[in-house]
Amino acid sequence: MAYMDLGSALFTALNKDTQALHHEIVAFDARAAQALSDKAVDVIRAAEAGELPPRIAASPDFYLCRWCAYAQRCWEGAV
Ligand code: SF4
Repeated sequence: MAYMDLGSALFTALNKDTQALHHEIVAFDARAAQALSDKAVDVIRAAEAGELPPRIAASPDFYLCRWCAYAQRCWEGAV
């Protein structure tokens, strides 16, 4: 939205269990957009330097890590 200079956007989500669609108008949030852009730059710079950003958890049992597609590689040799 920031790069396309949009003031709002239509967010659509599909409930995979019920196939119900949810639509919502989302207003542009300049602060959130900048924070996410800054975070992406940090990740890219870390990757280019051969570093990994810190994990979001201290254990692979953390609920987000259990759903993460990169969990095996992320925790390899760590525990
Ligand atoms: S397993 Fe995934 S969510 Fe958890 S710290 Fe590693 S990259 Fe992040």
